[in-house]
Amino acid sequence: MSPSKVSTLDFEKFYNTVNGQQRGSKNIHHGVNPATGQELWDVPIGTSQDLDDAVAAAQKAFPAWRDTPIEKRKEYLMKFVDLFQAHADDFTTLLCKESGKPRKFAAMEIGGVAGFTQYHCSLEIPEEKFDDDEKTVYTEYTPLGVCAGIIPWNFPLILSVGKIAPALLTGNAMIIKPSPFTPYTGLKLVELMQQIFPPGLIQAVGGNNELGADMTKHAGIAKISFTGSIATGKKVMEASASTLKRVTLELGGNDASIILPDVDVKKVAPEVVQGAFQNSGQVCVATKRIYIHESIYTEFLQEMVNFTKSIKVGAPDDGDNMLGPIQNSMQYEKVKGFFADSKAKGYKFAVGEPDVAASKGFFIQPTIIDNPPNDSRIVAEEPFGPIVPTQPWSDLDEVIARANDTVTGLGACVWGKDVEKASKVARRLEAGSVFVNSWEKPTPQAIFGGHKESGIGGEWGKTGLLAFMNAHVIHVYKN
Ligand code: NAD
Repeated sequence: MSPSKVSTLDFEKFYNTVNGQQRGSKNIHHGVNPATGQELWDVPIGTSQDLDDAVAAAQKAFPAWRDTPIEKRKEYLMKFVDLFQAHADDFTTLLCKESGKPRKFAAMEIGGVAGFTQYHCSLEIPEEKFDDDEKTVYTEYTPLGVCAGIIPWNFPLILSVGKIAPALLTGNAMIIKPSPFTPYTGLKLVELMQQIFPPGLIQAVGGNNELGADMTKHAGIAKISFTGSIATGKKVMEASASTLKRVTLELGGNDASIILPDVDVKKVAPEVVQGAFQNSGQVCVATKRIYIHESIYTEFLQEMVNFTKSIKVGAPDDGDNMLGPIQNSMQYEKVKGFFADSKAKGYKFAVGEPDVAASKGFFIQPTIIDNPPNDSRIVAEEPFGPIVPTQPWSDLDEVIARANDTVTGLGACVWGKDVEKASKVARRLEAGSVFVNSWEKPTPQAIFGGHKESGIGGEWGKTGLLAFMNAHVIHVYKN
């Protein structure tokens, strides 16, 4: 890494990165700044030839990286952390422009790049040894080869790094495809990584949805690490079957939050609101259904309403804003559909207006729907926007059954003063990550994945490393 290269990064020009080289395309598209509606910079739409070239380069880079000792691979990753930190402000500004997130929350995502990478560098690849009179059995793990990461638009940077760090640590090559809605930070990240890693090891080919589909069919790719919607996840799994690729699917959810009767209402209600409206509700594990014990329902809902009214919504650079816009027009229209449906069915808006006010950006005020029926769209589906339902409960077994009555199972929360009791409830919830006395805060220290239709497998944490590896068991018989 030469320091002079650090200053050459241009945050207004964007390329795919194939075999260490910047690559444009005859066809371009662009993102839209969701806070202003303005078009952002041109971005190349990668072709199937770009993908073939990237796969060939990755296959070439893979053996030497696989044979590089893990301690050395960690050194590379830690060098990347230092280099990235030197550009943290530029990446924060870029992330604000492409996602609309308030700057302090964009800065948290940027901070996560170092956090996720550093944590992964503290891990060792697991191994086991079994010994008896006849033999010794070594259970070891080897990298898969060329992996591909397909990324959604809600956390374009951290969800890229959440795939790149474990893939490279375990000795794989990686090709990233950012979302067409938020291509900028992902492409720039991979461009920056060229200053550290050998050509072909970490590449980015951005493009449209068809390029994602091409990746899932490509015979030279050993694994797809996909984060996105359930509908697309099913297509990824189906297409990957033709070459029996490994797949990890991190998909959507409909997280329940159960409020036990002994909570400190004033303290907990604002936190539950933050869990629902974090990133304007555009979080796979945002709280999407809130079940409040009937004995405190009215009081708790009122505290939620009070806090919600204090939330400021607006452009990234106003430091008081807690929520930004919806990231893109397609999602904006989808979220507005939940408002229209709730209005048409006559549900009670505890806070927020049934009609979303027109604005230059895709802004929506956070909204709570008071006690809609179980089969309402707002309870049964994932809105992925700042609108959430509350319902009362009286019987613990019944509310656990209600929380579990969904085809999804990504996250869930339980809130209660009696931590032991709350933890017992947590263990009965069918979800990959259950949080006790906190809203959903995924961390790199544990595997993250969904039950039921929220996904297949999981990544992050020590167990998550195995998602990028094959078991390789050596049975040595004694003479
Ligand atoms: P999406 O499924 O529309 O797109 C995700 C990515 O898949 C994009 O890069 C897209 O170009 C690509 N793609 C589209 N069609 C494809 C195909 N046929 N084959 C391969 N790739 C294809 O999802 P989105 O709208 O970008 O993201 C929002 C969804 O993601 C929500 O449902 C949310 O809950 C979920 N999500 C899940 C997690 C998680 O970790 N479980 C995290 C963030 C978001």
